[in-house]
Amino acid sequence: MAADDLLKHFFGGFVRVHILHHAVEAPIFGVEMIEELGRHGYKLSPGTLYPILHGMEKAGYLTRTDEVVEGKRRRNYRATKKGEKVLQEARIKLKELFGEVVRETDRKSTS
Ligand SMILES: [Zn+2]
Repeated sequence: MAADDLLKHFFGGFVRVHILHHAVEAPIFGVEMIEELGRHGYKLSPGTLYPILHGMEKAGYLTRTDEVVEGKRRRNYRATKKGEKVLQEARIKLKELFGEVVRETDRKSTS
């Protein structure tokens, strides 16, 4: 696997965790999420993000409610109970991964 593909693979997971995190707190919609992810350094086009949201909805992690804003249909997504649960699990794994991969690396580079 090329480095680019491997990174894409990692980021695909990070992006989904990020989406869930925000969708637990408040309803999210595509454009807003693209901006939010952009602030964190992930450049996603609507053509990439929408299928992710749709896939997560289909799998039961998000629910969608449509709303009309300024004449345009806006799809709002919220995390379901299942989504919240999987985020909790991801959080535990992330903490552990962070402890090993980030903290240990920091310790080594500062000592
Ligand atoms: Zn965020």
